[in-house]
Amino acid sequence: MRASRVSAAYGAKVAIAESHLFGGTCVNVGCIPKKLFSYAAHWREEFEVARAYGWSTTEPQFEWPTLLANKDKEIARLNAVYERLLTASGVEIIRGRATVVDPHTVEINGRRHSAKHILIATGSWPVIPPIEGREYAITSNEAFHLERLPERALVVGGGYIALEFASIFHGLGVKTTLSYRGKRLLRGFDADLGERIAEEMTHKGLKIHFGGEPSSIIKHPHTLEVCYTDGPHQTTDLVLFATGRKPSTANLGLERVGVKLAADGAVIVDQYSKSSVDSIHAIGDVTNRINLTPVATAEAMWLARTLFRGEPTPVDHDNVPTAVFAHPNLATVGLSEQMARERYGAVDIYKTYFRPLKLTLTEKKERVFMKLVVERASQRVVGAHMIGPDAGEIIQGVAIAVKLGATKAQFDATIGIHPTVAEEFVTLREKAT
Ligand code: NDP
Repeated sequence: MRASRVSAAYGAKVAIAESHLFGGTCVNVGCIPKKLFSYAAHWREEFEVARAYGWSTTEPQFEWPTLLANKDKEIARLNAVYERLLTASGVEIIRGRATVVDPHTVEINGRRHSAKHILIATGSWPVIPPIEGREYAITSNEAFHLERLPERALVVGGGYIALEFASIFHGLGVKTTLSYRGKRLLRGFDADLGERIAEEMTHKGLKIHFGGEPSSIIKHPHTLEVCYTDGPHQTTDLVLFATGRKPSTANLGLERVGVKLAADGAVIVDQYSKSSVDSIHAIGDVTNRINLTPVATAEAMWLARTLFRGEPTPVDHDNVPTAVFAHPNLATVGLSEQMARERYGAVDIYKTYFRPLKLTLTEKKERVFMKLVVERASQRVVGAHMIGPDAGEIIQGVAIAVKLGATKAQFDATIGIHPTVAEEFVTLREKAT
């Protein structure tokens, strides 16, 4: 979408092939409907908090069909907006599945189209490990269209999608278990985040099963029985696998024309998103670099600049902020403490862990966690991490400072906004031992 529109704006003649809905994973079965579900799931706690502030309500009732219908309506609206935007930008829309025939030819519905440049932006698809009974499990794709909410759910995985859907189900009243094969959630994130998010989610009542993974799923008339590698069995109503996604490059004809793929199927590209074939580029999840929508759209804009504005622009994947919309939210920018120690040696760590003002009138035990990682020699803040309400909103602002190379002293010189949660990022004075 973005590459087409920006390239067209730079004067390129552009056609786009799409076999399904416009907007990709993000709009249809990803970020947007997920965030809507996440908002829905937050309301249960908000009703509880409201009582401590003097509001009384009758027992709130949740209706899944209403949420589903409203979500579908909004997604259909976005699909139509995207299609209109393409047409308005002068992009030709070709409905159908494309295959690459040679470095300058694409075939769609039996018709061949020639192009100076071909861009692969086909995204990725969820994978379920090859265990017995895997056909009884679903992925996030199906979770967006469940006819009814289950009473119990098992979510498998310890990454973004697992934490987000476990939180959504739990928030909507489903008895939810999260099952992760390792010992700490969110591998690759700062270790404190992985540990503390598990504590916070457990406090909320979600069950987490560490150290095992499902080895088989047996279907009974009304339930599913899940057997684990580490012994126990669990009876549930729905099993959702969030065990990663695979780049969508199958049957595109890429290998045939000489495009090199990695072992996981990702298109191998250089820093200008160029594949091993000069006229073929690839961006987004299909390249399996940093699989986030804003990264893909940035890659699209850098590529359009490179190809059609005569400004070769390499991708910049440094200090990409990201949020996991678990409950509570979690967000991060820059390096984890572990990565910073590997890269810089000596680092200073600042942390805080506190009960937010909003919850002080309630019985809730939820705490906010914040952490700054500072390179000792230069005193630059090289990582900022947070668990707490609106963590994504807060880290987005902090990310600008980190991207600009702000020092700890510059954070300290910034006046806080009181009373907010975010102000803690500029009032951290004590080094963690
Ligand atoms: P992730 O790569 O984030 O997580 C996959 C999880 O599944 C890991 O915990 C991994 O464990 C585990 N896993 C992998 N293979 C197996 C297996 N065979 N058996 C058991 N567990 C397994 O993938 P997701 O599917 O959650 O999300 C895909 C990507 O989409 C994310 O990485 C992110 O880039 C993007 N995304 C972004 C979101 C956002 O911005 N908020 C939201 C959702 C997705 P281990 O760590 O041990 O390997």
